Amino acid sequence: MGELHPDVQEVLLSEDDIKAIVTRVGAEISRDYAGKNPLIIAVLRGAFIFTADLMRAITIPCAVDFMAVSSYGDGAVSSGVVRIVKDLDTKIEGRDVIIAEDILDSGLTLSYLISMLHARKPASIEVATFTVKDIEGKQPAVKPRYVGAHVPDAFVVGYGLDFAERYRNLPYVGVLKPEVYAGKD
Ligand code: IMP
Repeated sequence: MGELHPDVQEVLLSEDDIKAIVTRVGAEISRDYAGKNPLIIAVLRGAFIFTADLMRAITIPCAVDFMAVSSYGDGAVSSGVVRIVKDLDTKIEGRDVIIAEDILDSGLTLSYLISMLHARKPASIEVATFTVKDIEGKQPAVKPRYVGAHVPDAFVVGYGLDFAERYRNLPYVGVLKPEVYAGKD
């Protein structure tokens, strides 16, 4: 691995960890959806890197489409009410849908998105999240079928995850130094 970014205090998932996680989740999906042709929906922007790797780890036919949503409200606290900024191009009626997420925190955004997609009558909807943030005393509003890894309750960046649109390109997942974001949101 290259040098640690100076704004990152600690690596949680190395490139090798990530490769192993994605290979495992890809194998689980390939097994569970054998004989089907699931549609993977990447929730932009954070999930695009995970989705690209995940698709290459899936050995059965599958398709991909993209959605972008934005939360209403001041952005500091997830309200769970979302607006579709970019909708799917694919009709999902009767399709097996797998939503790929970068990180599940409160899960409120995702839970709202799932209820919107349910109205389009897909055959099934499951969630594959690269990470779940473990927050003491709290359960995410959505139960993901596939979980890559658990991360502690800290602000994490890399492998698609950003702070103010930075750090998505880090090849690992790390904890951002608090002084980088202190007072900025
Ligand atoms: P939720 O509705 O609280 O689950 O919000 C999840 C979304 O917030 C994720 O898809 C990320 O875009 C963002 N998010 C939550 N925690 C982090 C983090 O630690 N780093 C970067 N983005 C995060």
